[in-house]
Parts: sequence; C-alpha cells; structure tokens
Amino acid sequence: METILVLAHTETDGSLAKPALEALAAAKSLGGTLVAGLVGDNVQTAANCIAGWGAAKFLAVTGADFAHPRYATDAAAAEAIAKAAGATVIVAPATSRWNRVLSGVAHRLGGRADTHVTAIAAAGGAISVNRWYYRQRMEAVIQRAQRPWVIALDPGCVPAWQGDAGTAAVENVAVTLADAQKRTAVTGLKAPAADQQTIRPDAAMLLVAGAGWTKKQADGQTHVPDAEKLILGFLKLTQASLGGSKSLVDLGGEGQAVLSFMTHLHQIGQTGSTPRHQKGLSTCCHGEEPHTVGWRFVNERRAISLDPNCGWARGKANVLYVADAFAVMAKVNELLAPKKA
Ligand SMILES: Cc1cc2nc3c(=O)[nH]c(=O)nc-3n(C[C@H](O)[C@H](O)[C@H](O)COP(=O)(O)OP(=O)(O)OC[C@H]3O[C@@H](n4cnc5c(N)ncnc54)[C@H](O)[C@@H]3O)c2cc1C
Repeated sequence: METILVLAHTETDGSLAKPALEALAAAKSLGGTLVAGLVGDNVQTAANCIAGWGAAKFLAVTGADFAHPRYATDAAAAEAIAKAAGATVIVAPATSRWNRVLSGVAHRLGGRADTHVTAIAAAGGAISVNRWYYRQRMEAVIQRAQRPWVIALDPGCVPAWQGDAGTAAVENVAVTLADAQKRTAVTGLKAPAADQQTIRPDAAMLLVAGAGWTKKQADGQTHVPDAEKLILGFLKLTQASLGGSKSLVDLGGEGQAVLSFMTHLHQIGQTGSTPRHQKGLSTCCHGEEPHTVGWRFVNERRAISLDPNCGWARGKANVLYVADAFAVMAKVNELLAPKKA
C-alpha cells in the first residue's frame, strides 16, 4: 500500500490556500495511508482545519525560517518531511512556491517528479496521473514504478477538500539549517491593490482583449482610451479575469499605443497561459490557433469580431458576434451596471 504525503505550505495568515485543499482531496481519493506535511511559520491552525481529513500523521517543519518561500529552506523542509513520512507518493499543489523546489526534492529523495498534473486516480492498485503535452494539444495518462513519486497538481482541477476541523496532533520534524541556506531574505511583498489585479484565476469568466482594440477604427482613428474604459468597466462589473492576445501584449514593445494595464502575464495561448474558466468572451481578437489553444479549458466560448471569417467562426467559439466590440461592450456594460448596483 502506498504512503501518500500531501505537502502544503501555509499562507501568511497561517491558513491553507485552495490549491492545498485540492491536493488533499485528490490524495484522499487514492486510498493508502495519508500523511499531512505542513511547512510554515506556525502550522497548528492549518493542521486543525484539516483535522478531519484522515491523516495517520501530521508532520511539520515550522519556524520563522520557513515562513517565506526560499529554495534552500523549502527544499530542506520538504525533503525532511518526505523522509520522516516514508512517503512513496507525494502530492503537492502546484503553487509557485512548491513548483520551484519539487523537482529538486525528488532528485534528493532518489524519486521522480511530474509537474502540471491535472488529475490523479487509483485503479487496480495502480496510481495514474493525467498530464497535457504540446501546449494542451495531447493528454496522456501515465504511471510510474519509481518511488517516491512527486506529483504537482495544477490548481483548479479538482474540488477542494471540505471536512471537519478539530485538534490535530502535529509532530515537528527537525531541520538544521546552515547559514548558507538562509542567504536569501524576503524583505517585503509588493502586489497590486485587489481592484487593480486583473488576472483572477478563480473567476467564472475570462475576458480576452485582442489587438483590434488598438487598431484604427471606421473613422480612421484609434480609440485606445475608450477601449481601456470599456474593458476595465466590464472587469469591474463582472470581476472577470483579463487575458490578452500575443499581438496585443507585444504592442508595447513595438512602441504602439497600448492598453496600460496589459502585460505579458495576460497572454493566453501557445506561448501564454491556459487558464480554467467556465466562460470566455473574446473581443477584437482574430482567434488564430496559437491563441485559441490557450482556451482548451474554457468551457463556453463567445467572441466579438468584425471579421466573419476569423478563427472563432471556424469552430473555435460557441457563439460569434460579427459586430463592433466598442458598441457591443458599451451596451453590455450599460446592461450590467444596474445589476451590479
Ligand atoms: C509560435 C507561435 C506562438 C504564438 N503564441 C501565441 C499565443 O500564445 N497567444 C496569442 O494570442 N497568439 C500567439 N501567436 C500569434 C497568433 O498567431 C496571432 O498572431 C495573434 O493571436 C493575433 O492577435 P489578435 O487576434 O489580437 O490580432 P489581429 O490578428 O490583429 O486581429 C485583430 C482582430 O480584431 C478585429 N477587430 C478590430 N476592430 C474591431 C472592432 N471594433 N470590433 C470587433 N473586432 C475588431 C479584427 O477584425 C481582427 O480580427 C503565436 C504565433 C506563433 C507563430
């Protein structure tokens, strides 16, 4: 029987974030002996919240040295917990913090790591994981004989674990750090204000802006300030997440008029991201294959483009509005405003 360790780090408030709860749910569905491994400044609150998860043990590496993400200390903590647990399978949420260290940890443990896993299942005594390849064009189901097997589960793929809180008996795992492992210091965090943060992975809807927003319109002029107002207005009213086409996010570098809030982090597609949202609305974007491949996990797709022969019209969207996005989005915002109020 496998000993399945879920590795989770606490957030700054001592809680476990949703991706950690998703990893707990995925691991629990596998059967086997469950061990919770927690890393953070103080993990008791987090452990108590998952007291009803079914862990045979709660192992933890705690203290100020483990409060912030840092390769050397995170890797040391994960390695120590995995050894103390005797883990054969290690499931971790694919957060930026764990993604940095998991392959190194697998190497130290003599194991193997798989990243960007989207599903984990057990059947006939064997565990298999799903993973997409070639920018989400092919899906593979794979198994491994090598142990320990480190699995980084992408956020948003399984429902988060829900269950009873209680009092967890946490066993501390000692990790002795050399000064060299503490050379990197986190001096502070900088993040945009919540209402300026336009990438919202948990949003139900994705709004994609294409380069058309910055192009000359029927009157021979560009209308970038209007475009900004319409897009930000829609985001404010719906709390949708914002994505962009490559052409649009590249424009800044080419010295053209750009949407001030658009960055390369917004790019959706083959060389951008592949977010998961229930619905997506593409605006002023041509819907070419390298872009729409990033829509793989967007379930219901609509697009507004002036071009009736655009990629969206060729089977990429459920609904295509052949219309002026400036006019459509102004009307949509007008209709949404009273609902929001
Ligand atoms: C190897 C490779 C990787 C790539 N990776 C990516 C990627 O990750 N992501 C990505 O996006 N692209 C990617 N591309 C580029 C991709 O092929 C397209 O060039 C890009 O997606 C085009 O962006 P766009 O549709 O916004 O711009 P355009 O092609 O310029 O289209 C603009 C659209 O806006 C419409 N429009 C203009 N005004 C209006 C209006 N008022 N109302 C409605 N519609 C209007 C036009 O009709 C047009 O269809 C990649 C290409 C290659 C070769």
